[in-house]
Parts: sequence; C-alpha cells; structure tokens
Amino acid sequence: MQSLDRHAGAGVPFSVEFSPPHDEAGEQRLWRAVRTFERMHPAFVSMTYGAGGSTRDRTVRVTGQLAEETTLLPVGHLTAVGHSVAELRSIVGAYADSGITNILVLRGDPPGDPLGEWEKHPDGVEYAEELVRIVRDLGDFHVGVASFPQGHHRSPDLDCDTAYLAAKLRAGAEYSITQMFFDVDDYLRLRDRIAALDPVEAAKPIIPELMPITSLRTVERAEQLCGRPLPERVLERLHRAAGSGAEEDRAAVRAAGIEIATEMGERLIAEGAPCLHFITLNFAKATSEVLTNLGYGVTAAPLIA
Ligand SMILES: Cc1cc2nc3c(=O)[nH]c(=O)nc-3n(C[C@H](O)[C@H](O)[C@H](O)COP(=O)(O)OP(=O)(O)OC[C@H]3O[C@@H](n4cnc5c(N)ncnc54)[C@H](O)[C@@H]3O)c2cc1C
Repeated sequence: MQSLDRHAGAGVPFSVEFSPPHDEAGEQRLWRAVRTFERMHPAFVSMTYGAGGSTRDRTVRVTGQLAEETTLLPVGHLTAVGHSVAELRSIVGAYADSGITNILVLRGDPPGDPLGEWEKHPDGVEYAEELVRIVRDLGDFHVGVASFPQGHHRSPDLDCDTAYLAAKLRAGAEYSITQMFFDVDDYLRLRDRIAALDPVEAAKPIIPELMPITSLRTVERAEQLCGRPLPERVLERLHRAAGSGAEEDRAAVRAAGIEIATEMGERLIAEGAPCLHFITLNFAKATSEVLTNLGYGVTAAPLIA
C-alpha cells in the first residue's frame, strides 16, 4: 500500500477499521471517531462490508464520504457473497465513482452463520483470488486481501492456508491485513511460512490487526471475529481483572485489555510490523489510548499528503 511507504522514516504507521453505521446515532458515533483519528493521521482507514453484502450501499456511500469530506485515505472492503461477477464489477465501479481506488478484497462468509456452508453465487466467484483478478482488471486499483495467522477456519492446514495467501498476492494484491489475533507468535509464524514459500510475495506488507478488549462482552465479539477462542493466558488475565463479584469490574477489564493491546503493539513494532491496524467498532477512545501508550499522538500536520 502506497501510503505505508510515505510513512517511511516517520515510525510505524497505524490504520483503523470502521463499519457502516445502522442509524442516526451510529452515524454520529462513527463521525466522532473519524474526526478523532483524523487528528492522529492514520496511514489509511478501512470500511467493512456487511455479511452477505447487507451493507453494500451504506459501505460504498460512507467510504465515499470519507474520501470527499476528510483528509483520510479510505479503503473499501468488498466481499463476493451473494453477488454475480456483473454485480461485483458494478460495485467496484461505484467505488471508483466515489473516488475510492483502494479495495480490500474478500470472499466473505455465508450470511447468518459465518461458520455455515459456503455457497458460491451461480454467476459469482469461488475464492477471493478470482475477485482480486477481476478488480485489478477493472483499472488502477490498489488491492489488499485477508491473511490468517492461525489459518482460516476452512483451510485444511497451515501450509494450504499459506499457499492460498501467496496465490492471492500473486494475483495482484499488494498487501494483506490479518485476522485479529492475541498471540504475536502466530503472526511471526505466518510471516515465516510465507517467506519460506514465496520470498517475492513475502516482501509485501502483512499488516497485523488488533482490537483492544474493553469488556468481557467484547471477548465474545473478538472470538466471533477470530473464529476461535482467545488464548487461555489472555482469558485468565481478563477474568482475573473482572474479579469474582457478581458484576464484572469493567474498569479493570478495560485497563487489562488496553495493556494487552499495548504490549502486543510494542512487540509487533519491535518485530518490524509494517503498520498496526485496529478494529475500532466505531469507538475511538480505547484505540487512541493504546496509540498514546505506544507514543503516537496528535501531530500538527498529516504524515501523508
Ligand atoms: C482483515 C479482514 C477484514 C475482513 N472484512 C470483512 C468484511 O468487511 N465483510 C465480511 O463479510 N467479512 C470480512 N472478513 C472475513 C472474511 O470474509 C472471511 O474470513 C472469509 O471466510 C474468508 O475470506 P477470504 O477473503 O480470506 O477468502 P479466500 O481467500 O477465498 O479463502 C476462503 C477459504 O477458501 C480457501 N481457499 C482459498 N483459495 C483456495 C483455492 N484456490 N483452492 C482451495 N481452497 C482455497 C481458504 O484457505 C479459505 O479456507 C474479513 C477478514 C479479515 C481478515
């Protein structure tokens, strides 16, 4: 991704993920978060695409607003679920019309149950790799893809999983963003696997995705997004903070969650991660606390033009 190069020499960049809002209150929350992060100058911001294409119009509209009304570099997510190739082409066209040339290309999960049986649209694509080629053939788009430090839940093993990632990169993706993880060793092992398999593609940025845990409820959300339980030692730390009372000690859980994300960020920076990407759920506070702990601050001028 171009904007990562522009940060070279200015420290490790960070980026954030937003989701399209559902209602007026959500819209206001999103824009408060957008304005907070805008002052911290992320390398890019990404906007998710609802399961099964459910947010198609909102995702494209809000990503377009980010391009028009902010100084941020937006990356629109695109998934193949429920879309024919003709529809996918027209969504890419709508992104281009809104000034979006950065697209995170994903297959997506079946609507309803993300772990349910995947069904290809009769006129659609089977794998993200095909969609990468389609988007690249449509014009001058910068394409990213998903990578999985612990392997995708449908991959038979880690070696196959790594081979599929390499195929997506060879198809024209410029970088990948990982699924959220809580053990930095999993990220480092993914990097080693891809380096051993394909040193050329391994040179492309693998951007680690983090999410600060702010309550035991967020643990459930994180486990849904990871598709697997959090590591035992992370769970123990959060539950210890929650205490043994009838009510969880939310302030202590939040403090532990921020500490865990900060420690992971420190280690990832030390290990040479190209950027830190944060899932925000459209809240700015927890992520900006982690960023502040890591030494990021509000700077007078954007790092990228
Ligand atoms: C950073 C990030 C952002 C995400 N954003 C969204 C979002 O906005 N909206 C949403 O709905 N979902 C999102 N997801 C979830 C994602 O759509 C799911 O994890 C989905 O199940 C896999 O998508 P993929 O693009 O990796 O698919 P693919 O790369 O197509 O992989 C799907 C499965 O097929 C296997 N596979 C791939 N290629 C081949 C091949 N050639 N032959 C055989 N098997 C193969 C893979 O190993 C994997 O098991 C996101 C995930 C990540 C990591």
